Amino acid sequence: MNPLIVKLNGLSVIRCPSSQCGRPYQINQFGARFSAQRERAKIICPHCGLQLYGDRDSVYLTHALSEEEERRFEEEALKSLK
Ligand SMILES: [Zn+2]
Repeated sequence: MNPLIVKLNGLSVIRCPSSQCGRPYQINQFGARFSAQRERAKIICPHCGLQLYGDRDSVYLTHALSEEEERRFEEEALKSLK
């Protein structure tokens, strides 16, 4: 399963699927075609440590959003529900 990545002001943001956590965080995806990865790339939630799996030929770095960015993300998420 590919995680759902949302664009927020040029940031790529994904929401943690954990029911305990559910917080959004920033994700950066890099191509890794030249590093022979045997396992699928892990995407690790900076809040709770939950691991997702991404594309095999990518590397992912994650960061917590700032409070401001997280608030804006939640506002956008609410708008898209309407
Ligand atoms: Zn989480």
